Amino acid sequence: MQCKHELEYKQCADCQAEDYVEMVNALPRYVIVCMRHRDMLFGGNAHLFWSLDSNGYTAALETAGLYTEEKAREIAAGTHGQEIPINIAELGLEQEFFRTAESGLKELSTLTIFNVHNPRNKEIIERNKRIYYSDSAG
Ligand SMILES: [Zn+2]
Repeated sequence: MQCKHELEYKQCADCQAEDYVEMVNALPRYVIVCMRHRDMLFGGNAHLFWSLDSNGYTAALETAGLYTEEKAREIAAGTHGQEIPINIAELGLEQEFFRTAESGLKELSTLTIFNVHNPRNKEIIERNKRIYYSDSAG
C-alpha cells in the first residue's frame, strides 16, 4: 500500500510518525480541574477534579477521570476558565496512576490531593488557563 508521499506505507517514516502522534493524541491523558467549586472535606485546600465519565467531582487525583484532548477541550469550551484541562504529564503522572471504577482504590495506601496553595500547582493551573482560554483572556 502506498502512502500520500508515494512511498510504500511501511517504509515512510513521516506517515509512521504521524500515526504515532495521532495515536498518542487519541489517548485519554487529561484531567479537568474545576475552579467553580471548593472541596468540602479538606477545608477548601484541595482542588476538585472531574470524575470518570463527567460524573461529579473528586479531590483524590487517583479517582479523577481521564479525558482525551478533544473531549477536554470540549468540556472546557465556554466555561471561561472555570474548567481547566491539565495534561497528566505536567503532573508527573502516567495513566496507570489513575483508577477506573473497575480497578478501584482498595490496593492504594495513600490518596493524592492537589493543594490549592502550592505555588507550582498555581503555576500549572495558570499556564493551562492561558492555553485553553487565550481567546478570552483579558
Ligand atoms: Zn508517507
